[in-house]
Amino acid sequence: MATAPEGNCIFCRIRDGSIPSKRVFEDDRVLAFEDVDPKAPTHLLVIPREHIPSMNELVPGQEALVGHMVLVASQLAKARGHADGGYRVALNCNADAGQTVFHLHLHLLGGRRFDWPPG
Ligand code: 5GP
Ligand code: ZN
Repeated sequence: MATAPEGNCIFCRIRDGSIPSKRVFEDDRVLAFEDVDPKAPTHLLVIPREHIPSMNELVPGQEALVGHMVLVASQLAKARGHADGGYRVALNCNADAGQTVFHLHLHLLGGRRFDWPPG
């Protein structure tokens, strides 16, 4: 199911503070926090404050928001020392990509080598 009512959405609850998280960045449009089950030494999630279930629900007018998510990820990657070695950004959409939380989020992974193509 690609949509979750905002009240049941884990990431909306993290945004609102009713589920704790280790926040590493926030501003008026996005927040970033540590993934609870990290797949790399750095594994951060960057989410919009706005509840957008997945990439499928993006509409014209949200380009700047998505661009801001990418820019924040690049700044966090640099701050953690991954700029030279490299890092990966992933945005999973729906079942075939393994999306499990239906609030748009960008994974920032760094600190180890990643295979290509991903499994
Ligand atoms: P997806 O599989 O949807 O692309 O990624 C969802 C991510 O959210 C997973 O990496 C998972 O570990 C993370 N996650 C799920 N529930 C929580 C939670 O309650 N807190 C945090 N910090 N991360 C979560
Ligand atoms: Zn949400």
